[in-house]
Amino acid sequence: MESERKLGSARYWCARRAAVKHAFGRNIRARYSCTYAGTMADFMSPEGRSAHMSKIHSKDTKPELVLRRLLHGVGYRYRLHDARLPGKPDLVFPSRRKVIFVNGCFWHGHDCPAGTRLPKSNTQFWADKRRRNRERDLRQQGELVSRGWQPLVVWECELQSDGRVLETVREFLGP
Ligand SMILES: [Zn+2]
Repeated sequence: MESERKLGSARYWCARRAAVKHAFGRNIRARYSCTYAGTMADFMSPEGRSAHMSKIHSKDTKPELVLRRLLHGVGYRYRLHDARLPGKPDLVFPSRRKVIFVNGCFWHGHDCPAGTRLPKSNTQFWADKRRRNRERDLRQQGELVSRGWQPLVVWECELQSDGRVLETVREFLGP
């Protein structure tokens, strides 16, 4: 399919960027990142592009900041976006061997209105994308468990409501 072909080319650029980084180090990598983003954006459909851009900007999105503020306020300390762990968890608590993912309901297919409704156009595209995201999430969580880490998913919609989610997270983390 057309969109698959385009994604294939994006993967090629991704591999190429990694190779360049390996060979030349950071500065070159930064230049290639730009090339990569531009190339990928040009290749993609508007939907794919917006999905891609939302990934680029996925760090420090609002729900995650809300949780970080809550946890910091009650004294927990953590590392952020640890790329050495499967799924690059948003919050990592090394001494507790626990990690937290703050997941957007739409992208990760939460069992709530935002995560179960699909856009009216390109419905199949979004359904497939969401299914792949969910499968990947589960796989990564399984890998974490097999490495001795306990994962918790906090959903975007849970952070929009009252403070109940903080109780859940405190229970998960322990004192
Ligand atoms: Zn939700």
